[in-house]
This record gives sequence, structure tokens and C-alpha cells, in this order.
Amino acid sequence: MSGFLFFLGCCVGSFLNVVIWRLPAHGTIVTFKNRTAPLTLSWPPSHCPMCHNAIAWYRNIPVLGWLMLRGKCSSCQAPISARYPLVELGTGLIYLSLYLGFFDAHWNHGPTPDFHGGAVALILYLIFVSCLLAASAIDADFFIIPLRLPYLVMAVALASCVFGAPDMLPAAAPASIGGKLALGGTVGLLLSNALVLLKILPRSFSTPQDIPGNPQDIPLPLNPPPTLKKSWPQITAGCVIALIVLLAWAFWSATAAALVTMIGGILAFLIGVLPRPVLAPDDSQLVLEESADVNARREISKEILFLLPPLCLAMLALVVPVALPAAPWLERLLGVLLGLLVGGGMIWVVRIIGTLIFGRVAMGAADAPLMAAIGAVVGVPAVIVVFFLAPILGLVWAIVLKFQGKPNILPYGPWLSMAAILTLFIGNPLIHWYAQQIFPATAPTSHSSVMWPGEPAPSFSPAGTRP
Ligand SMILES: [Zn+2]
Repeated sequence: MSGFLFFLGCCVGSFLNVVIWRLPAHGTIVTFKNRTAPLTLSWPPSHCPMCHNAIAWYRNIPVLGWLMLRGKCSSCQAPISARYPLVELGTGLIYLSLYLGFFDAHWNHGPTPDFHGGAVALILYLIFVSCLLAASAIDADFFIIPLRLPYLVMAVALASCVFGAPDMLPAAAPASIGGKLALGGTVGLLLSNALVLLKILPRSFSTPQDIPGNPQDIPLPLNPPPTLKKSWPQITAGCVIALIVLLAWAFWSATAAALVTMIGGILAFLIGVLPRPVLAPDDSQLVLEESADVNARREISKEILFLLPPLCLAMLALVVPVALPAAPWLERLLGVLLGLLVGGGMIWVVRIIGTLIFGRVAMGAADAPLMAAIGAVVGVPAVIVVFFLAPILGLVWAIVLKFQGKPNILPYGPWLSMAAILTLFIGNPLIHWYAQQIFPATAPTSHSSVMWPGEPAPSFSPAGTRP
């Protein structure tokens, strides 16, 4: 199963490479081999961007295909980016780490892992991680996040409420403060969206030049190959990561091996994605100009209007008695909705406050939906860990950029995503530890030192999730 999960992850990584380059330009009319049609994820077929020769299936094997070709097209010798094998390796390692964490290291709190519940949560997390990785790489390349990715995660999280195991997914009792906030906030969010559709509430940044990352600006998804010389440091780093993971397996405990595998996967992915291809246009200047919109403060005020109904109705739900049945699926549904609202809300408030203070758009419009999707999967309070972990990770990269003398502008999506992936493992132990520091007497004793991601919050939680 470990081998299968790793191979599956590598294959998904191979597919993500396609998604990363094609999703932002999906539907653009392109011509390939005398056929002109809208670009899709499956057409044109996998080909060399320089000589347009198709790539044989046996050379399309994840990671090994690139190594067999030694990073060069077999027909025209054009270099192939090291990003491809590294994204494949990174995705494979993260998939493997989640399986190890669930079924090998038993990162749950019972002596017998519930296979059914574990499988549902594992499938949810695999889809979650795949969407986060795609969003990260697209954000790193184009400074946009296609909203289909966070929406897909939210849809899968909501669907998993029907099947899910209560202990592994976010949950909030209908009678608790969290459950009431989730209910009121969701009704308010639906109301706000209806008001925008009815044109009663204005859309922010609605003139074409105001939309950050206007699709027309996006270059065609032809991967500009960096020089081969540049790809070898990346490949060497990937080999070192693979070696460390193997050593961790051989000598360390299952828990440590799972964590090292996950961190190795994240690093391999970032090393593949973050260095910009040498021929790619540098969008930093463009993004700087767009964020310095003269009307930023006026436009962001429209977003305050949008947030008022969810806020007011969430507060109202606290005082108005609503009788809801205490069904497990309803608890999970409210837990997912609470995470979605709290996650999206936190980033949105930062965006609004930052824009009002600095007079320029403080955060991408898609960061709030992305964080909402993260909250829907990890729940409250783990989403708060993501909120505080992401800027720390981003700061590390900002320092790297500073040393390279590059403009200090960085997309936030990758850091939110990587913090979310790490939180699947470290979120609940961290919350548990933190609770013990603050409430040594009231903190619940856990069955083991490691608790599950999405495990119901300890009773100290201000959101009042399931006891
Ligand atoms: Zn070629």
C-alpha cells in the first residue's frame, strides 16, 4: 500500500504539472498540428514545446521518464524543466506521508484505527493536498488562483460529511456556540451572494482593469524551458531529499518517518515550483502596479458590505434559539461550515484592514476562498494554526528573495497551502500542547501524545466545537 500510494502520488503529480500550466489558460484558442481549438486539460496531447513531437508513454513515467531522458527532449534536445520530476516526487512523498501517518504511525487517538473512517479522511486529504499543490504552483507562476480549485475542495469536504468518520473530520454540535455561528454565518453568506447576484450589493474591483490577473494577461501555457545548467542544483536537491527520507524510514520511528516524508515532499515540490523559469515573464512589476489601484480603499469598502450579513446573522444566531436535531452528519456539516467561515473570514479581514491602512490591495482576492477551503477540511481550531504558520513560512522565502536581490513580492497561496498540509500532522498536537500551557488544569487528557487532524477540539475552544 505504501508503494501504491507513492506511485499514485507521482502519477497525480504528473497530472498536476498539466493542470498548473493549462488551467489558467483553459479555453484559450490554440493551434497545434493544423488543428485550432480551445485548450483543455487533455488537448493538445503531451508534447515537447519546442519541436511539438509527442512524448512516448514510456518516457512519460513519473520521475523516471525525466531521468531516462536526462532532462532533454529525445528529438530536438531542448531542455525539459526540472520542475516536472520534482513536482511528481513531491506529490508522491506527500501522498505516501499521509498514508504512513494514518495507517502506519497511527496518528489517531485510539488503539485500533478505524479503517473505514481512516479511508474516508485519507481520500479527502489526498484530494485536498492535490488541489493545494496545483493552487500553489499556479499562484507562484501567475499570481492568481483559479477559484475552481478551492471550490472543489469545499465541495468534497461537504460531501464527506455524509460518509465521514466523526472523529476525523471537523464537527460542531448544533447547540454549541460554534454550531450556531456556523449556521448564522452560512445563511448570511448565501444572502450576501444572492444580493450580489441581484445587483443590490456592488461587486468590488468590477471594472475589467481592476480585476487582478485578468485572464487576457496570462501567457499561453507553453513551458519555457530553463537552461539545463540551471536544473541540476534542483535535481541534486531532490535526490538529497529522497535519500534523507529513505534514511528516516530505516532508522527512525514510524511517526518521525511520516513527518520527514511529508516535509521532504513539501520541500521537493517548492524547489521544483518556486524558481521561476528563466524565460518566463516576470509578473512581479505587473502585480505591484495592479495592487497600487488608486481606488483600492473605495473598492475594499464594498467587500465590507458583503461581509456584514454573515457577521450580523452569525451574531443573531447566538441569541435566537434555533432547535436543530443532534445528528452526526449535521455536526460534521456545521463543523465544515464553521471552518470554512472562520478560515475565509480571517484572511478576508486581513485583506480589508491591510488595504484600508496601506491604500493598496493587501492580499489576493483568491486567498480568502483558498483559506475557506482549508478551514472546511481541517476545521476550527486547526485553521487558526494555519493562519499563524503561513506567514512564518512566507517570511523564510522573503528572506531568500532578499538575498537574491529579487523584488520582495510573493504570492501568499503557496504558504497558506504548505502550512495547511503541515497542519494535517502537527496541527492538533500543537493545539493540545498550547492548551496545556494555558489551561493546565482543564486541558483534556489525550489517549496518546499525537491527536488526529480534525479531531474535535478540546473543550476550552472558544468556538465550542464538539466536546
Ligand atoms: Zn523537442
